Amino acid sequence: MKKIVGILLLLFTLSGCTTLDFPSSSGLENNSFTPTDNKLVAHFIDVGQGDASFIELPNKKTMIIDAGESYESDVVISYIEELGYDYIDYVIATHPHTDHIGGLADVLDTFDVDSIYMPKALSTSKTYENLLNTIDKHGYKVKTGKKGVEIVNEDDLKIDIVAPCQDSYSNLNNYSIVLKITYGEVSFLYTGDAEITSLKEITDDISADVLKVGHHGSNTSTSKEFLDLVKPSYAIISVGKNNRYDHPNSSTIKLLEEYTDKIYRTDISGNIVVTSDGQNIEVEVEK
Ligand SMILES: [Zn+2]
Repeated sequence: MKKIVGILLLLFTLSGCTTLDFPSSSGLENNSFTPTDNKLVAHFIDVGQGDASFIELPNKKTMIIDAGESYESDVVISYIEELGYDYIDYVIATHPHTDHIGGLADVLDTFDVDSIYMPKALSTSKTYENLLNTIDKHGYKVKTGKKGVEIVNEDDLKIDIVAPCQDSYSNLNNYSIVLKITYGEVSFLYTGDAEITSLKEITDDISADVLKVGHHGSNTSTSKEFLDLVKPSYAIISVGKNNRYDHPNSSTIKLLEEYTDKIYRTDISGNIVVTSDGQNIEVEVEK
């Protein structure tokens, strides 16, 4: 049995800042800031209807998975700057939809990055072209994100891409990079907007304590069969208030209630921060 402790701290202040336990931004000035020792801190940033995740890894590296719509980039950038970082080691653009990659061009213009992973999907959208042009401008190379790619493989820390498994899909959502992070006994599964078509193809072990729920809680991304494999304790849904897609779907919420101990939603809780020492899990919310 995994030892899991869920601690809910109400951090909402008048300014909306989440300051408790967060590293001071003074590190930016003296450049001596290093990430929290031996902790993995997974931030689910509230960007309205969209996805933006930032992860402080226990190996002192950092990862961003999507950055919301382009008009949300300031929110994402100042959030990361407030944590004290001026670099991001791994950038994951799950798939070319604007609510995921929109903010990434500004992120690349702000932070130094090491590796960028994207699926081999085609899109002619202006936002996607802008991102590719920005990547070019900085001289970065894109690594293809697909099943079998290992991003980190250390004793205690593994980050694996488990989908997409095929080279082409009719629905752009199914190109989404699905990624599993395992730190000690604790694991996280990030699913982008991958739908059941893609999720069904996964052959890796996708059991995870924390599930970043697919496609903002749409019923096209969460099934009983999938949850039987993941067996999550916590579900995180990144979703905008009163969105026009009616996300999250009420049947998805019902299923998640059946399978998980607790569901967190950015439209209700604002920023959500999950911290783990490799054994225990703590959850803090902004409001
Ligand atoms: Zn989306």
